[in-house]
Amino acid sequence: MDEVSRQITIITGGGRGIGAATALHLAEIGHDIVVNYQRDHAAAQQVVDAAKALGARAIAVQADVTTEEDVTRLFATAHDSLGSVDCLVNNAGATLHIADLADTPVATIRAVVDVNLFSTILCSRRAAQVMSTRRGGAGGAIVNVSSAAATLGSAHEYVHYAAAKAGVEALTIGLAKELAGDGIRVNAVAPGIARTEIHKAAGDPDRVDRSASRIPIGRPADPREIAVAIAWLLGPEATYVTGAVLRVAGGM
Ligand code: NAP
Repeated sequence: MDEVSRQITIITGGGRGIGAATALHLAEIGHDIVVNYQRDHAAAQQVVDAAKALGARAIAVQADVTTEEDVTRLFATAHDSLGSVDCLVNNAGATLHIADLADTPVATIRAVVDVNLFSTILCSRRAAQVMSTRRGGAGGAIVNVSSAAATLGSAHEYVHYAAAKAGVEALTIGLAKELAGDGIRVNAVAPGIARTEIHKAAGDPDRVDRSASRIPIGRPADPREIAVAIAWLLGPEATYVTGAVLRVAGGM
């Protein structure tokens, strides 16, 4: 694909897991990619190198997407390095801790709401400012990564995470309506349980393997199975899809 028709796409938390799989799939189908990460530079750089090997232009940008300052810098770096941003994947997220709400520290609850919901609001706000055709942009598409937790509730695991993801879905519906006249489509993907490091980071590395019996399809998702749904929602076959939450959860 030539440079003129390549989409320029920011993937938050693109260094690992679902974000990395999405970045690589998008690179493969003709996007230039901005791989945002918070701490793991080496992982993000690996994704960048692999994307370049696929023929994409790619950069890694460290930014904590829960802060306005870093989000502004992320979008500015993307623009200055690659050009006008066309697409945003709000993927950065974390569960951090698995317990009943009553046993979860307040600081952990706040961090979970910040990284899953507030970061999505901040990045979507910046995307609306730079992509809106009414504000001089070229339009574009946003995909938010929610979770089946938003409708299942995640009792005894992380109800605050589920609540944050339900917020992400409400944001998706409202912002889709708000930006439909600005040339920006807004959708969400809701994965069930995928094989990534999010579970280990929350202190339960075996959660994925234990979960198989709860999943109607009988196994957790490979991150690439989520990535293709994200790419479809961003892409030219989904031009009439906005405000949708696509559940990719093996029947959960
Ligand atoms: P993961 O493997 O743990 O990766 C999380 C990514 O988010 C990492 O790249 C991390 O950056 C980044 N990140 C975390 N906090 C950040 C911040 N403040 N600023 C910028 N980046 C930040 O997670 P995953 O499983 O792929 O999850 C991706 C998304 O899917 C999340 O929204 C998650 O809630 C959702 N999801 C996952 C599952 C699942 O079973 N895996 C199920 C449903 C929904 P560093 O690498 O620098 O730390």
